[in-house]
Amino acid sequence: MSALIASEPGTPGRDNEDFAAVSSDVLVVVDGAGAPRGTATGCRHSVAWYARNLGGLLLAAATDDRSGLAEALAVAIDRVNALHADTCDLTRPGSPSATVALARIAGDRLEHLVLSDAVLLLDRVGAPPRVVTDGRLADVVAKLDELPPLGTDAHTAGLRSRVEQLAAHRNQPGGFWVASTQPGAAAEALTGSTPLDELNAVALLSDGASRLADRFALLDWPGLLGVLRDGGPDALIQRTRRAEADDPDGSRWPRGKASDDASAIYRRFRELL
Ligand SMILES: [Zn+2]
Repeated sequence: MSALIASEPGTPGRDNEDFAAVSSDVLVVVDGAGAPRGTATGCRHSVAWYARNLGGLLLAAATDDRSGLAEALAVAIDRVNALHADTCDLTRPGSPSATVALARIAGDRLEHLVLSDAVLLLDRVGAPPRVVTDGRLADVVAKLDELPPLGTDAHTAGLRSRVEQLAAHRNQPGGFWVASTQPGAAAEALTGSTPLDELNAVALLSDGASRLADRFALLDWPGLLGVLRDGGPDALIQRTRRAEADDPDGSRWPRGKASDDASAIYRRFRELL
């Protein structure tokens, strides 16, 4: 069965800092993040550049190589480093980073990997969905000040302060882990595997595509999987955009951006009954 895939920028015409792609047996979603405008970094590349290079190299590494998914991610991080080690100072903080959801069909099993707040949903036969996401970033964010309303100067200042505070916890023991310049961060990813015959489907989501469930609480996870089953990733993203448009100033759901880049991949393993 083929995979369905959608990836859209939060604002039409802007760079999409997500990346989503599939090969015959590998599915990958990458969600890039960067330092706020005006912050000095050692890297001259855009977040979108980082996300698509990491995602493309990860797809290749996980497809070509039968080693574990965490090793494939470490290889991909290392290969992206090599692409800009000559032009950029990768030892300085503020280089682009990314969260990752990755799945691979290996024989009769589905292997998975999640790094940071990307979401991987295992739609299980006769059991509730298993949600794989790393809560460490959310744990750090929960300790920070709440953001003022979207579109205000206070929000802009609060967001900058938040990003600076987050930087102090990134890829640090006791903080949270993302793909950036340290291949060793891959060892912090959540990994596992599931027999294919226990699965109806798998979904990989950037946090911009999971927010109907985990941020807005407009759907539970079975409901979100139902949207994917009935309408595919496009329907999920359209529904997310409608919810975002209903709360343009973030008063109901405080958040960093009114609309976030959103990516979803959905692959079924058995026919609909
Ligand atoms: Zn660079």
